[in-house]
Amino acid sequence: MAVHEFDAVIVGAGGAGLYAAMELSRQADLRVAVISKLYPTRSHTGAAQGGIGAALGNMEEDHWEWHMFDTVKGGDYLVDQDAAEILAREAIETVYDLEHLGLPFDRTPDGRIAQRRFGGHTHHFGQGPVRRACHAADRTGHMILQTLYQQCLRQNVRFFNEFQVLDLLVEDGAACGVVAWEILTGELHTFHARAVMFATGGWGRIYKVTSNAHTLTGDGAAICWRRGIPLEDMEFYQFHPTGIYRLGILMSEAARGEGAVLRNRYGERFMERYSPTLLDLAPRDIIARAMITEIREGRGIDGKDYLHLDFTHLPRQLLEEKLPDITSFARIYLGIDPATQPVPVQPTAHYAMGGIPTDVWGRVVLDEKNTVLPGLYAAGECACVSVHGANRLGTNSLVDILVFGRRAGRDMVRYLREAERVPLRHNPDSDAREQMERLLRSEGKEKVAVLRQELAENMMEYCGIFRDEAGLRKMLEILGDLRERYRRIRLDDRGRIFNQDLLEAWELGCLLDVAEATVRSALHRTESRGAHMREDYPKRDDENWLKHTLLYRKPDGTFEFRYKPVVITRFQPQARTY
Ligand SMILES: Cc1cc2nc3c(=O)[nH]c(=O)nc-3n(C[C@H](O)[C@H](O)[C@H](O)COP(=O)(O)OP(=O)(O)OC[C@H]3O[C@@H](n4cnc5c(N)ncnc54)[C@H](O)[C@@H]3O)c2cc1C
Repeated sequence: MAVHEFDAVIVGAGGAGLYAAMELSRQADLRVAVISKLYPTRSHTGAAQGGIGAALGNMEEDHWEWHMFDTVKGGDYLVDQDAAEILAREAIETVYDLEHLGLPFDRTPDGRIAQRRFGGHTHHFGQGPVRRACHAADRTGHMILQTLYQQCLRQNVRFFNEFQVLDLLVEDGAACGVVAWEILTGELHTFHARAVMFATGGWGRIYKVTSNAHTLTGDGAAICWRRGIPLEDMEFYQFHPTGIYRLGILMSEAARGEGAVLRNRYGERFMERYSPTLLDLAPRDIIARAMITEIREGRGIDGKDYLHLDFTHLPRQLLEEKLPDITSFARIYLGIDPATQPVPVQPTAHYAMGGIPTDVWGRVVLDEKNTVLPGLYAAGECACVSVHGANRLGTNSLVDILVFGRRAGRDMVRYLREAERVPLRHNPDSDAREQMERLLRSEGKEKVAVLRQELAENMMEYCGIFRDEAGLRKMLEILGDLRERYRRIRLDDRGRIFNQDLLEAWELGCLLDVAEATVRSALHRTESRGAHMREDYPKRDDENWLKHTLLYRKPDGTFEFRYKPVVITRFQPQARTY
């Protein structure tokens, strides 16, 4: 067994993990490791296209208070407003920091960072759209990842690439390391540290049509849940309106920010009916529901389950300069030139609003009183701070991962100045070893890929944009059956060297866990709010449900819900119209 000693270990090399690592590595005496199952620049942050929101006011008047208000209203008032204030204020400094670190943002003619419109971002507290998204063409996430990775290398962060973390170590009530599988060799490694951070991204792969990469399987959230940490607000899962039909690959909201519009089979700009003020730039939950309504009422293209995203009125030069990647996706995957033909789109599973509960310093909390688990941090899409509440606005994830990744890194420095090293128990990797051996030895007949597909198809059907009690109960039954069959899988590859079959089998366990947390939470919340639309409870119910849910899985296999109040500071809940 290989054992590595570090001060801080970060699991995940996306924007959140890399920003935290960069902050930590500014302290010359701290030994910092980043563990990633992917080569760092393949992390999903690199897929982020449209932009990062910050009220710089470079193209028109803007203020952080407007950004904060939009975030709170966009999240259907489930957002913790202390966290939203931090997000909106620190977004500005964070974007300038990125600029100074070398990120090549697009520019205005007079040399300032260029900004464009994005859904739900408004001026004067909702009066009309504002240009707030800072961008580098439609490759913003790619530029962020490259910039941060270079800075981490420069500051001697140790990278363990293609190592898959399987377990979290907690001793004497404090986090003290993780256990990881080295993908190349199949060797288990124990990382002994004084502070651990999870920045493992989302879990769009619980759904069939998704913008998320194959690797986004909720590992960090599942590992924490198995160790007794609750998951917060798991019922809120966002569908982005414009995924390429059937494939789910994203046509960024930047497209609509630059003027593309949605049309139904009659060529109508149907968002005029659903959001008269913001039209195609309404928040995602509202547009995704509008699209499904159009389709259900027979106004999908040719009566089918998709609509059109129309760029044809936009100048070709604008498409080439501002949206080069997504227009080339349409050409590559559909053989369509968006300058002359509309692109078939449908909503695609995109973003987890819930996750591992944290405070505003990225410290993982264990209950409704915000009791901190010493030494454990989480940030980025796997965490729930909560700045997105019931629905995230476009561009706010990149803000979230960087603002709270940075704050977590800073607090880890503070913590490490005081924290003692907690000794490891005997055989710390025994649980992880047992998990892998069981999968390797399993003698059943079930195929991982089949179970994974059944999970994703049924989640789409029963726990998608519209939900109700009967469908969610059915999904729980299906999950029970899938779990049973998961015990009887058989791997084609039983070796240890680069065994993707084995790793996908392990990831399926994580997918089943996060799907279960999502379905149970969705069944439990008997109201509709943001992305959680219960057709049997269509109204928002502030009297009973203006609260976060914390879902625990107890050692005996039963589940427990607890509730955390929403932090309300400046903006009292109001009806959410656009
Ligand atoms: C197509 C697309 C476009 C988007 N566009 C935008 C946009 O324009 N603006 C915006 O704000 N947001 C956008 N988003 C959302 C945003 O990109 C993501 O929410 C965000 O990048 C997540 O960052 P992260 O650091 O939390 O995780 P990720 O970047 O997903 O990184 C996760 C990391 O965790 C590692 N990891 C996971 N599990 C394990 C494990 N078991 N062991 C070891 N390592 C592990 C992975 O290797 C990876 O390094 C977009 C998302 C998609 C999918």
